[in-house]
Amino acid sequence: MNYEHYFENALAALKNERRYRVFVTIEHDVTRFPRATWHGPQGAREVTVWCTNDYLGMGRHKVTIEAMAECARTLGVGAGGTRNIAGTSKPIVDLETSLADLHGKEAALVFTSGYVSNETGISTLAKLLPEPLLISDEMNHNSMIEGVRRSGGEKRIFRHNDVAHLEEVLKAAGPDRAKIIIFESVYSMDGDVSPIHAICDLAERYNAMTYLDEVHAVGLYGPRGAGYAEEVGAMHRLDVIEATLAKGFGGLGGYLAGKESVIDAIRSHAPGFIFTTALPPPVAAAARAAIEHLKVSGAERAQQRAQVAKTKARLAAAGLPVMPNNTHIVPVMVGDAQLAKAASDMLIERHGVYVQPINYPTVPRGTERLRITPTPYHSDALIDELTEALVATWRDLGLALGERQAA
Ligand code: PMP
Repeated sequence: MNYEHYFENALAALKNERRYRVFVTIEHDVTRFPRATWHGPQGAREVTVWCTNDYLGMGRHKVTIEAMAECARTLGVGAGGTRNIAGTSKPIVDLETSLADLHGKEAALVFTSGYVSNETGISTLAKLLPEPLLISDEMNHNSMIEGVRRSGGEKRIFRHNDVAHLEEVLKAAGPDRAKIIIFESVYSMDGDVSPIHAICDLAERYNAMTYLDEVHAVGLYGPRGAGYAEEVGAMHRLDVIEATLAKGFGGLGGYLAGKESVIDAIRSHAPGFIFTTALPPPVAAAARAAIEHLKVSGAERAQQRAQVAKTKARLAAAGLPVMPNNTHIVPVMVGDAQLAKAASDMLIERHGVYVQPINYPTVPRGTERLRITPTPYHSDALIDELTEALVATWRDLGLALGERQAA
C-alpha cells in the first residue's frame, strides 16, 4: 500500500481550494513590540504585527517576564508530571486561587490550553449528568464543538445569539431534562458579543446550566479584567466560566472556574486533565503575574481601547470595509479566499505589515477577511502606516474602496 499517496492527496485538495496554510516565521522583540523580525524568503526584515492575540502585550510585559524568569531560576522549567503525580506545584495552586478570585467563584482548575479546557471540560461535565442535552451556539469555537461531540450526549444547535431560538430549544427539552447552554462572550471573528443576561434569564427559567467561554475577553473587559460577564455584571449568574491564559494574559494554558463541587468533579474525571503533564511552573507564575497586574491596572485596557477606536475610525474614513462591532477585533472584509491571501502577502512583502488572512472554515465562505487586533502598543503613527498600506493594497488588487472621509 502506498500510504504517502493519501497524505499527498489530502494536501493537494487543500492547495486546490487555496486553504493550504503557509506559516510566517516571526521573532517578536520584547523592546519593540509590536515591531518584529520576519524571517521570509528574502531574509530577515522588519515588520509590524497586526494579528497577535497577545491583545494587551502581556506576553512581553516586564511583570510576566520577571515572574517567569525568577520562577524558572528557582523552580526549574518543567512540572515533572501530571497533577496527580508530582505535577501540582505551588505556582499552579496559587494561579488557581487567583483565577477563582478573579471570577468570584469557589474554585478554578488549570489545563494545558484553552482548547483542552473546553474539550475535556464540556465532555466531562456532560458525562456526569443524566441524559444531558448540550445546547450550543452555532458559532462556538471548534474546541467547544469537539467537547460536545466527545461527550456523546444529545446536542441542539441554536442560531447565533438568537435567544428566541434558544428558548424554543429549552422549552422543547422540558424542565426536568438536564441541560447545558454552551456559548461565548466575545466571538473572535466578527467581534460581536452574546446577550449574557438574556441567556442567564432563560437558563434560570428553564433550569439549565450555563457554560461561558471568555477566551477573547479575559484581561480585556470588566473593571478587574475578569471578562465580558464582569463588564455587564453577569459573572455571578454563570455556572462555569472557561478562558485562556494565552491571549489577554499573554502566556499559555486554559482554565475553568465555578462551584467547588463542579470543578472538583471535573478534576477527578476529566481525561484531558488527569492524563497529561501539568503546566510548567514558570508558565503558571507568569500567568498569575499578568492576572494580578490586570486586576488593579486599567492602563493597558484603556490604551488598547483608545488605539482600537482610532484604528477603526481611520480605516473606515479611508473607505476600507470594516465590519462594525463594539469590541477590540477589527475585521476588514475581503469576501474571497484568494484575494484575502493575496492582500496578506502584499501587505507583508511591500509594506512590512503582518496580518494573516482568515479563510473558510474559520469563517463562512464569502466572508474571508483580514482580522486586525490593535494592542496598547500600536502607536498612532503605526495606525497611519497600516491605513496607507491597506489602501494601497486594496487599489493594487482592484478591491472596492468606499468614499474617503475626514478621520
Ligand atoms: N475558545 C475560543 C473561543 C478560541 O478562539 C480559542 C483559540 N483561539 C480557544 C478556546 C482555545 O484557546 P487556547 O488558544 O488557549 O487553546
